[in-house]
Amino acid sequence: MQQIADNVYAETGFRGCNPGFVVTKEGVVMIDTPQMPADAIEWRDEISKHGEVRYLINTEPHADHFTGNYFFEGTVVAHEGTREAILAASVDQLKERLKLMAPESLSLVEGFSYRPPAITLSERLTLYVGDHTFQLINLPGHTPFQVAVHIPEERVVFTSDNVFGKVQAWLHQALPFDWLDSLKRIQELDADVLVPGHGSICDQSYIPEMYAFIQDWIDAVTRAIDQGMSLEEAQDKISFLDRYPMEGGSEPMAQEVQRWNVARLYEVLKK
Ligand SMILES: [Zn+2]
Repeated sequence: MQQIADNVYAETGFRGCNPGFVVTKEGVVMIDTPQMPADAIEWRDEISKHGEVRYLINTEPHADHFTGNYFFEGTVVAHEGTREAILAASVDQLKERLKLMAPESLSLVEGFSYRPPAITLSERLTLYVGDHTFQLINLPGHTPFQVAVHIPEERVVFTSDNVFGKVQAWLHQALPFDWLDSLKRIQELDADVLVPGHGSICDQSYIPEMYAFIQDWIDAVTRAIDQGMSLEEAQDKISFLDRYPMEGGSEPMAQEVQRWNVARLYEVLKK
């Protein structure tokens, strides 16, 4: 766990997303939850030293950000689209995944249920807790439903998966041009520390590099389409695996993720 500002903590070592929390005068506000049950329990024990969880914000609709909600108290807050994704998530599929990834965790999810948000936003929402302000801003990109959480008193932004900190990006549901716009908007936020959805903690100086990565993806697939390549040909040709490593634990999916990324961009850019 890293303390990244006076009252803000984040963890980049869990498998899945980077969860974080803010300690306010009136309890703890969490941002995302660990995906693996054993990690969620460890995280819950850590957080309990700092107070009761008041709110739990999910930054996006992917299971690695919201599966762990089950292990925590607090009112869940997320984008409407994330609520839909949580309501549609399958407990049976989760148990199948855990059988493969962490069979020792199965006993921890016996009574498992997904916890959808009680409060949703479409564009913006501000929470005031103790002396802290949490500005939730919908910034489409990695999916339409990404939410950045800006905490001005701490000069910190949790960016969601619109920023991958020097690890491979997943573009399988991307809105690539919105993503570029959203990165510009993140850069306009007054902050010293950015907590990306995955990878290393960074700051505003990393945003141009992330922007260039998305732009290079768009350019590579655009070129393939202009050259008349079929989707399969583009998938065989395009890979950015030389640029960043896969996040720890997901290395076996490296080739597959590249192909999904090409497929998504090919579909969007062909139009
Ligand atoms: Zn994601």
